[in-house]
Parts: sequence; C-alpha cells; structure tokens
Amino acid sequence: MLCNLVFSNCKRSLRFSPTHTYKFNPFLSIRNMSVSPAKSVPDTLVSGPNAHLVAPGKCQFGSDFTSVSLLKRWKVSETSSVLQFSLPKTDEPLNLSTCACILAKADLPDRDGKTEAVIRPYTPISTNSQVGTFDLLVKNYGKDGRMSTHLVEELKENDTVEFKHIDKNVKIQAPFDGYKKIGMIVGGTGITPMIQALHAILGDETSKVKATMLYGSKMQSDILAQDMLDNWVKHDRLELEYVLSDEPEDSDWKGERGFITKDLIKKHLFSPEDKEGIIFVCGPPPLYQALCGPRDSPELTGALKEMGYTSDQVFKF
Ligand SMILES: Cc1cc2nc3c(=O)[nH]c(=O)nc-3n(C[C@H](O)[C@H](O)[C@H](O)COP(=O)(O)OP(=O)(O)OC[C@H]3O[C@@H](n4cnc5c(N)ncnc54)[C@H](O)[C@@H]3O)c2cc1C
Repeated sequence: MLCNLVFSNCKRSLRFSPTHTYKFNPFLSIRNMSVSPAKSVPDTLVSGPNAHLVAPGKCQFGSDFTSVSLLKRWKVSETSSVLQFSLPKTDEPLNLSTCACILAKADLPDRDGKTEAVIRPYTPISTNSQVGTFDLLVKNYGKDGRMSTHLVEELKENDTVEFKHIDKNVKIQAPFDGYKKIGMIVGGTGITPMIQALHAILGDETSKVKATMLYGSKMQSDILAQDMLDNWVKHDRLELEYVLSDEPEDSDWKGERGFITKDLIKKHLFSPEDKEGIIFVCGPPPLYQALCGPRDSPELTGALKEMGYTSDQVFKF
C-alpha cells in the first residue's frame, strides 16, 4: 500500500543510462520520506534502486592501476564511511558491470615501517547513473586493518588512491539468467555487492525476480545502509531479515539474534529442490567457512551443502 502511495505521488523522473535507454524511476522520491536533510549522508545511501546496467568489459578502470583523487568522505556509522572518488573520465560513469568489484592499491608501511603495496577489493555502492565519480562504503577495522584504516582515517581530500579492474572480478550478471528467486546471505560489508544486485533487480520494473536477504551484523549500530534498505524493503520483491550476533540482551531489538544458521535459511529462503532460485553469499571469511566453504574454492561445503543445495545454486561473491 505504502509503495502504491509512493508511486502515485511521485513526479516522473528521467535518468540517462549509458545503455541509452531512459528509465522512469518511481523510487527516487523515497529519499524525501524518512531521511532528514540535516543528516549528512551521501546520495548513494538514500537513493531508490536504479538499474543502469553495463556489460562487462567497459569499466573506466582497466587492468593497470590508475590514480584518482578522494573528493569527499562521509562518516555514516561508528565504524564505516562512504568515500567518493573522481573518475579518469569525468563526463562518464564508472561503467562497472553488476556486482563486480575493483581493486584499491596504496603504498603503506608494514610493521617494521617498510613501505609495501597493499591491494584490497571493494565494490562501489554507486551505480552507473553517477557520472564522473564513484562511491565506496568502507568499514574501518581500526589498528587491525591496513587499507581500511588508510582509507577511512588517513586519506585526506585530494589525496590519491590507485584502482584497477580485472575480468576475474566479474560475477553473475543481471538479469541473473532468468532465475525467479535470489537468496542473499550477507555479513557486514558483504552488503556492498548485494546493494548492486538489488539496484539491478528492484530498479528494473519489468523484472519478476524476488530477493530475500539474511543480513548479519554484530549490533544494530553496525547495520550498514539500513535507512536505504528499510525503504527498499517496502518493495514487494524484497524480503529482508537483519540478524544480530552481539546485540545486548536488554536492548529493544525485536529481530533475529545470533548467527545465520540452517534454521534461519530454511525459514526464509527457497528449498534446495526449487530450481528457480540461486543463493549469493558475501561476507567475512568465517561466514563463507560456515555456510559454503572458502570464497576462492568452487566447491560447496558447509551448512548449505548439508542442507542439500548444490554448487550450481550457490554463488560466492
Ligand atoms: C569481493 C570483495 C569485495 C569487498 N568489498 C568491500 C567493500 O565494498 N567495503 C569494505 O569495507 N570492504 C570490502 N571488502 C573487504 C576489503 O577488501 C578488505 O578485506 C577490508 O577493507 C579489510 O582490509 P584491511 O587491509 O583494512 O584489513 P587487513 O589488514 O586485511 O585485515 C585486518 C583484520 O580484518 C579482518 N578482515 C579482513 N577482511 C575482512 C572482512 N571482509 N570482514 C571481516 N573481517 C575482515 C582480518 O581477518 C584481520 O583480522 C571486500 C572484500 C571482497 C573479497
């Protein structure tokens, strides 16, 4: 019902897509619904879903590292920030394919003070509707994290970071091979490629795909992009369950607690026999280990295998 109200009240908006189609995006008006303008958040954390799909092979970053500047940084939670970088071609979008990541490189001191190149993958949360810049949502691992601390604490506006994109980092592409159900099992910053997938699914009004996400975080304050996801869940093709592992017992939290278990998967996701569905898994190494086996291994192990899912149903991001 709320969704229908939004549709009927909003003004039509035309957005340019690099695939040269114009799209009506009724969700653009959602940004005014619940996010106070006084709260300093980037557009990429309040916008409606928009599918601006670009085929693999067109990303502005190629296989060699290219330096770009930090333009702006917003602290969006106790431990996370959104960083906006310039692009080499300022009159074009990043042109990254769905859910793909890019590699960031910085020369950082090791424990002995010797400088070495540190390279880490990040998945932009901005879509190809954004021209000239792109946004990363980065969780700061504090003194334990080298690149994340550098990006979130040390880097100043106009400082540069090098990025590249390689084909190996391209995964399954929207519209997701005609599957009708997508289960998303997510931990922490694993949300970033799923934001991309949801833009592609919910931003395409002709899509019949339904997404169900189990999103694990430590505490309520650790849930990334919550305002935006809480708006997107008003869409009838998204079901979302937050799962908190370290939320204080006496808090007002009414949702799921603990880790993402077989019971939760059984309760919310499609059954292994249902061949219309696939599962995306993205999160920290222990999440892969427990549910599907290491990220870089094509073999399916862990809870999903024990439940009867097969390796062709499970995609490790
Ligand atoms: C495909 C892909 C996409 C990613 N996209 C993003 C993104 O959009 N935003 C983002 O913030 N991060 C993302 N990451 C994680 C990111 O690449 C780094 O691993 C993270 O920033 C930590 O790097 P670091 O150098 O600060 O920490 P490190 O020095 O590598 O490690 C510090 C500590 O953090 C732990 N750690 C490392 N990575 C993780 C993790 N992912 N979850 C929990 N603990 C971890 C390590 O075990 C270690 O104890 C992504 C990872 C992958 C594989």
